[in-house]
Amino acid sequence: MTAFLFGCRKPVLPEPSSVTVLCFHNFGDRKNPYCVSVARFAEEMRFLEVQKIPVVSLRALADHLWKKTPLPDQAVVMTIDDGYKTAKDVAWPILKRCGFPFTVYVYPHAVGRFPSALTWEDLRLMARGGVDIESHSMTHPLLTHPDKPMNRKEYRAWIDEELAGSKRRIEEELHRPVTSLAYPFGGYDEYIVERTRELGYETALTCDDGSVDQKSDPYRLDRRLVFRQTSLKTFAAYFTQRPLHVGDLSPRDGERVKEIPAEITARILEPRTILPETGQILIDKVGKHWRPAPINPKTGEMRFQIPPGGRRGYYFVSLIAKDRAHPALLREASWLFIVRKKHI
Ligand SMILES: [Zn+2]
Repeated sequence: MTAFLFGCRKPVLPEPSSVTVLCFHNFGDRKNPYCVSVARFAEEMRFLEVQKIPVVSLRALADHLWKKTPLPDQAVVMTIDDGYKTAKDVAWPILKRCGFPFTVYVYPHAVGRFPSALTWEDLRLMARGGVDIESHSMTHPLLTHPDKPMNRKEYRAWIDEELAGSKRRIEEELHRPVTSLAYPFGGYDEYIVERTRELGYETALTCDDGSVDQKSDPYRLDRRLVFRQTSLKTFAAYFTQRPLHVGDLSPRDGERVKEIPAEITARILEPRTILPETGQILIDKVGKHWRPAPINPKTGEMRFQIPPGGRRGYYFVSLIAKDRAHPALLREASWLFIVRKKHI
């Protein structure tokens, strides 16, 4: 373990800062993928300390995106979703000892409702102690798929209650502004992204895999989920990756389409920064394995044929390629689209 901690070196790159937003959920002995053991979490935080990887606040990231304030390179933002009591009892003491700021995303419906959930009193204590508390919606639904039939007007009112209602409630309870949303289950579409912006949030976090930088959309910030089974090697590799910026996505990021498209297309915005022949694509509905992604080295255009016979629902897409100047370094872009016959 110690040899591993001291053995890795992060590459130094002459380019703008990139940031890895880590996402945890619960901590302890439960054999659940979202529950990281206490010993492992302590090791992961020790890794960041030993490697001198700077951990910055979500506020610093928001200011970097909106006001262009500088950030140290290869910085990390810590987020903990869902409001489990272990965020206070397990994670906070470890993070405090390391001097790492962090953000907890809670949904008011669960606050104080179960023995394993944080209470408003806990959250007030944490907020007074400098912990950032933000919104994870009101009831933690999949925002794109309400579980009862709704017309468009009802749907819009429901979304506003989930997004604005939760923001207002947390602000009333904690007397602090709420400026960030984590989409429950990482689910969003173009309407939800737009409404999040209109309702006064400054940032919104997805569960799409990747790192972010100043060119990233503040309402589609990728994260790295850390699971119980995430190895230290995988964890360490997160900090050697960079964003891959893409445009002309078809389907678009968050688009709802009625039929499964025959192909996915994207254009890599700076094709000279990558080795195009190393491009690989992973689409969760198409299988568990990375497949070669044909990238035109001149235009950066990528076209991937989707095999027929797929299922409807969320399509999470990740595209990676090796950096041309530092081939040990991967660049990654992630997005999603939704195949659904009905609008809501
Ligand atoms: Zn959640």
